[in-house]
Amino acid sequence: MKTNYHIYLLLGIILIFPLGLSAQFEGSYMPIKFEGPIPEDILQRTEAKTLSEISQNEGDLSENEAREFFTISNYALRQAFLTGNVFFNDEISEYLNNIVDHLLFQEPELRSQIKVYATRFSTPNAACWRNGTIFFNISLFPYLDNEAEVAYVLAHEITHFKKKHSLQQFKRSSRRQAGLFAKGQELDRLFEELKFSRSNELEADLAGLELLKGSAFDIRAAEGALLSLREIDVRPSKEPTLDLRALFGVENLKIDSADIVTYEELEEELEEELKKRDKEKEGEKKEKSKKEDSKYKDEDFATHPSIEDRLNAIKEELSSPDMKIDTTGKLLFLQGEDRFRYMRDLTRFENIKKYYENYRYAHCLYLSLLMLKKYPDNSFLTLMAMKSFYWISYHGKHYVKNDIIPDAYRYSKYSFGLFLGYMEKSSSLDVRKMANQYSKAKMENEAFAKNDKIIFWRAKILEINREEEEAEELFQKIADQYPQSDYYLHVKNLLEKE
Ligand SMILES: [Zn+2]
Repeated sequence: MKTNYHIYLLLGIILIFPLGLSAQFEGSYMPIKFEGPIPEDILQRTEAKTLSEISQNEGDLSENEAREFFTISNYALRQAFLTGNVFFNDEISEYLNNIVDHLLFQEPELRSQIKVYATRFSTPNAACWRNGTIFFNISLFPYLDNEAEVAYVLAHEITHFKKKHSLQQFKRSSRRQAGLFAKGQELDRLFEELKFSRSNELEADLAGLELLKGSAFDIRAAEGALLSLREIDVRPSKEPTLDLRALFGVENLKIDSADIVTYEELEEELEEELKKRDKEKEGEKKEKSKKEDSKYKDEDFATHPSIEDRLNAIKEELSSPDMKIDTTGKLLFLQGEDRFRYMRDLTRFENIKKYYENYRYAHCLYLSLLMLKKYPDNSFLTLMAMKSFYWISYHGKHYVKNDIIPDAYRYSKYSFGLFLGYMEKSSSLDVRKMANQYSKAKMENEAFAKNDKIIFWRAKILEINREEEEAEELFQKIADQYPQSDYYLHVKNLLEKE
């Protein structure tokens, strides 16, 4: 009964949001701005905050330990905010906090200690800080399929806080400093890599499941969430694999150079490389597990649990008789499916922006192209695709080669692997030509042809293709017709120099 009452509460939230939210991405996209008052828990002076936390510490730590624990934690949290990668007063964080409201409906005391922020650090994950602050990286969001999966990830993180896992972790590491675990460098390194111990992670998974069970969310989403997380290891996006031609969305994007391979050849080549790598990995794994078995007897420190281990544990739990799954009235979306889809696209747009700012042009181009499948008239995406195409051309194809891309992404049967393979096999001249053909096709869109930013980057791509005359015409066009343009002064200077 309680649950039903709560669903009505949430329905209240849903009704506030208009329908057809994603429609607003059709023409363009305005990135999220950092606006409004900075949240109080960040503004609070670190020292005062730390002192109050030390005084509230109830015998879990000695006074010295408490001082160290809270000082480091508050300092690090503040530093994280100062990097500008933590959103505040934004709709993604609001969406996530609504979910926590629901999950902790019956635990107001705990709820008051948890605060979720959407963040733009690059690793697709979520993390819980020692004081109950949860960071949810926007790069994780697009991997998840529904709101219940998001809820499960949050429930897992809440459990880390509730069960004081970071305290346990801290105590273990101070014992290590005292020499108890100082066996050698490898173990040190292991500790560095280890976030929470294996048993802490599995406990967070199972207790997270319990939390979900008490909510209106469908608990089967727990398995779904882990399956979704598994995708992170193999590709940067969960979109269906696309043929490259379909990806570029330009008919006859064809390069005449002799060293270009066909799509079919490329696929075959990648398949071969993939097999080779799988074999090598298999060998490495055997070596590694042999070493680890003899070294670390304590299973708790053996390794961070693999996603497969976590999946198996959840599956087992879900099928146990006392779990009794009654999914009547259970939901995958509490704030509406439309709202979820809107949030997922919003995070995709923000990810694209982040990749561009971090010079990750291959990711930026690929993800922009994917999103353009859905929003072909979006000028933000078109601009992002053209700009990253330009910089890849500018730096030469080695730029793609040297980008920080996991091997598993690079040599994969998914379209990102194919895309990278294609860019790498193409000569630098070919890449420039591709950028040229792509941007030329985009200029056929009436709205794009009138967009000063798109005109500017079309001109830049022409320039790099040694079509200076045509480029100058476009620069002149901006100088004559777009005095409000961000590029106006730049273009004026450029034209005067010549
Ligand atoms: Zn965890």
